[in-house]
Amino acid sequence: MSSHPKPSFGFLLLLLLLLLSVQPLILCLSTDALPPPTVCIVGSGIGGSSVAHFLRHYFRPTPSQPNPPNIEIFERRSVVGGRMATVTIGGDTFEAGASILHPKNYHARNYSKLLGLKVKPPPSSEDDDSMSLGIWDGKKFVFKTLEVDSKFPWVQKIVSYFNSFQMFFRYGFSLLKMNNFVESTVDSFLKYYESPERRPIFETVDEMLKWAGLYDLTTRTLQDELVHIKMSPLMIEELVTVITRINYGQSVSISGLAGAVSLAGSGGGLWAIEGGNYQMAAGLIKISNVSLHMNEEIESISYLGEYYELNSTKGNSYSCDVTVVATPLDEVNIQFTPSVSIPARKLQHTHATFVRGILNPAYFGLRTVAEIPELVGTLEDPDIPFSSISVLVQHDENDVTYKVFSRELMTDALLDSIFSARLQTVRINWGAYPHYKAPEVFAPFILDGQHLYYINAFENAASTMETSAVAAENVARLILSRYFSETHLHSTISNLKSKIPDADTLHTNL
Ligand SMILES: Cc1cc2nc3c(=O)[nH]c(=O)nc-3n(C[C@H](O)[C@H](O)[C@H](O)COP(=O)(O)OP(=O)(O)OC[C@H]3O[C@@H](n4cnc5c(N)ncnc54)[C@H](O)[C@@H]3O)c2cc1C
Repeated sequence: MSSHPKPSFGFLLLLLLLLLSVQPLILCLSTDALPPPTVCIVGSGIGGSSVAHFLRHYFRPTPSQPNPPNIEIFERRSVVGGRMATVTIGGDTFEAGASILHPKNYHARNYSKLLGLKVKPPPSSEDDDSMSLGIWDGKKFVFKTLEVDSKFPWVQKIVSYFNSFQMFFRYGFSLLKMNNFVESTVDSFLKYYESPERRPIFETVDEMLKWAGLYDLTTRTLQDELVHIKMSPLMIEELVTVITRINYGQSVSISGLAGAVSLAGSGGGLWAIEGGNYQMAAGLIKISNVSLHMNEEIESISYLGEYYELNSTKGNSYSCDVTVVATPLDEVNIQFTPSVSIPARKLQHTHATFVRGILNPAYFGLRTVAEIPELVGTLEDPDIPFSSISVLVQHDENDVTYKVFSRELMTDALLDSIFSARLQTVRINWGAYPHYKAPEVFAPFILDGQHLYYINAFENAASTMETSAVAAENVARLILSRYFSETHLHSTISNLKSKIPDADTLHTNL
């Protein structure tokens, strides 16, 4: 019988010491062997900056990927923030694009705390409760709330009660129905803030919406949804239309989900970042240890087997292990090799025209400027040349800064008929948000089955700062689970093959 000699305690101790001294070497070797992967992000809006933030936030080293990724963000413009941008008129700064946040926009709330940004209510024009509203049908105001500028709070209170009564008299319990519709949609949306342990990582927008119970709302129009809950036709034709025209520049034929999001943006408790919402993107980029390439437009993205090559208009080439597209692909000119297919989508253009001057009461059939409501909303009529006009700030009786939203350019001739004086005019033509329809068809989050991601696939559900952040958080988790965890990688890719939509259902080759 052979017997194995028992290792002595001294031998075991020596072995342990040896192992301990070698372990850092092993770690060090693996660190050297695997250079940090590079994640390239095209676009520095809230989507691009959020994905960078969440990549940093969720990254945990693993034996196969011990190093956090290098993150490179490319921005074609000279400022970060994309559709979060400010405009300066007469020394005052206003939001030119995304202006209001909902009280339950929790990522944005967290960003403001994390970055130490000051929060404020939006200008009165964007907070329905504190302003006078008129609904213009092209010839007359079909509905008008009272405005009394009194220094006595009790007078303001009485006016506010009177306005609520007026609203109730016209629209009745439809107001309550609208509120319930919005609340239940917001409640479903709150599922996206559940802890990551309880929340799946979604490979498609359809899955993501179905999980929260929001998908069905994208299959029917807002009008259909509201008829279904027995909202009065008058309320749909007037108040609801006014809101969808202001928030999405579109009619009630947008999808039920985009509609609910739009209506949520007309409630109370709305807020904004003092000095400009774009500071959320700027701050996230700053704290996420990112290499930021400003004024650098990406013109091509090619998959070269192991990595992506990004070429910019500056003539530079970048090698990226993972690439994230954080901008709508509908109007940008990026050449993909191999080509990628996404459903055809039109962007709704919104012309934001800022005018410092004074409105012409005669245009509205009125005698004095004071009779014109602070927010003029409009009905769906092709003859009305604007969607809304709102007061941003009143300097004095004859000096007011207004924001006009319209679907077409506001020509000088047109502005001269609406305004009796104009000191300054600034025009911005936004490729603002998708032109919504029902049923919606969604582009994939993963464009090529590899590591090319598309955050703005989610924009067909709704376009807001918060929805971009929510989609970016999911994409960050998707990247970490697919690229940074080998075990996930293989299963995800094989899963994906069955999930990528058929070429037949995809329309646009990019
Ligand atoms: C007039 C208007 C009003 C709005 N109001 C609100 C509101 O009140 N509340 C709200 O929450 N949302 C609002 N929105 C919607 C909101 O602005 C968007 O949903 C959100 O900002 C989208 O962010 P994003 O990062 O996905 O895209 P973007 O902000 O569009 O960012 C994309 C970035 O990518 C850059 N880029 C594009 N192509 C390239 C390229 N090839 N190379 C390098 N860089 C590139 C662009 O310059 C841009 O900076 C509004 C939008 C508009 C236009």
